[in-house]
Amino acid sequence: MGRVFLEHMGGSRVFSCARCETNLTNRSELISTRFTGATGRAFLFNKVVNLTYSEVQDRVMLTGRHMVRDVSCKSCDSKLGWMYEFATEDSQKYKEGRVILERALVTESDGTGDRLYYNRGEDN
Ligand SMILES: [Zn+2]
Repeated sequence: MGRVFLEHMGGSRVFSCARCETNLTNRSELISTRFTGATGRAFLFNKVVNLTYSEVQDRVMLTGRHMVRDVSCKSCDSKLGWMYEFATEDSQKYKEGRVILERALVTESDGTGDRLYYNRGEDN
């Protein structure tokens, strides 16, 4: 594996790992808050950084069959949600490549603007 490199998405409202506060994503990547995970409310994001991914799993959900990967924090290994690899229903295709983070496992806070190693030019 080697060294773990962490990114920071920047933005004025940021989402971080609830356990270790590693930055994960920000408000501008939020697609929907109307999802449900194992711990309750879950959010769908366009892009999330600093994750590790499990092997692909076949999972049947209310909205049909999906191939998903569980996602965990790259820094502390807490499970945070899952990523949609493939959706069998056409109406669910928009979720492919998108990431679900469970609300109870992340914290939302004001971005401080510091520690922006990447994407400094993108003011989301
Ligand atoms: Zn963490």
